[in-house]
Amino acid sequence: MTYIIQTNQLTKSYKESHVVSNVNMKVKKGEIYGFLGPNGAGKTTVMKMLTGLVKPTGGSIEIFGEKLTETSYDLFARMGSIIEYPVFYDKLTAKENLALHGEYMGYYDKQAIDEALKLVGLTSISQKSVKEFSLGMKQRLGIARAIMTKPQLLILDEPINGLDPVGIKELRSLFQMLCHEYEMTLLISSHILGEIELIADTIGVIKEGRLIEEVSMKDIRDRNTEYIELSTEQ
Ligand code: ATP
Repeated sequence: MTYIIQTNQLTKSYKESHVVSNVNMKVKKGEIYGFLGPNGAGKTTVMKMLTGLVKPTGGSIEIFGEKLTETSYDLFARMGSIIEYPVFYDKLTAKENLALHGEYMGYYDKQAIDEALKLVGLTSISQKSVKEFSLGMKQRLGIARAIMTKPQLLILDEPINGLDPVGIKELRSLFQMLCHEYEMTLLISSHILGEIELIADTIGVIKEGRLIEEVSMKDIRDRNTEYIELSTEQ
């Protein structure tokens, strides 16, 4: 089995506080992995460790089968991510924001920007300034920014949070398209089971820093299990 992400006893502590404890997470190639847990469970911290923003205090991470270190720039370049909320320059247009990001990253490609905007359905408003954008539009623009380098792995922290049902439906189709047509692997966190179960192929449940369950949606459906254990809604 090829795993795009595999963690081994991944741990993060701040002084006496164990925020993430011995997490063994396996994300398969080409799947949508729903990372479910209540607020404060440790989802963002795990995602920050996976993207190199935070250094683990214990354990290890393999991405694309290679060990991740602070200087794995080649691996970071193969990932796209939105950790916490995507932030933009409000007075600039959507397109200008992506261009600026591209220049900053040393990856400015007009065609890639247009393609990314098209994929997320923002072409028609790409010349509007971001201050006119709704939360859902900003989420989609954040995804456009994350996918313009055509990453193989996309890590999104609570992208559905605060969206209305239409926005959620649109994002769900986008995730499925990225996964099936663009062969990306997606890791998506959420604190709401009802939202993530409609999107994910596998669900990993984190509570108080521990991964307490990792189960495929197919297994859940086949077993017709009442997966009360998974429910973390607050
Ligand atoms: P949320 O959805 O609320 O962001 P989460 O599951 O993403 O929740 P984290 O943001 O990873 O959770 O936070 C997990 C715990 O780690 C929280 O109790 C938080 O207060 C703590 N924490 C996060 N960063 C730090 C830090 N830099 N120093 C100390 N504690 C931290």
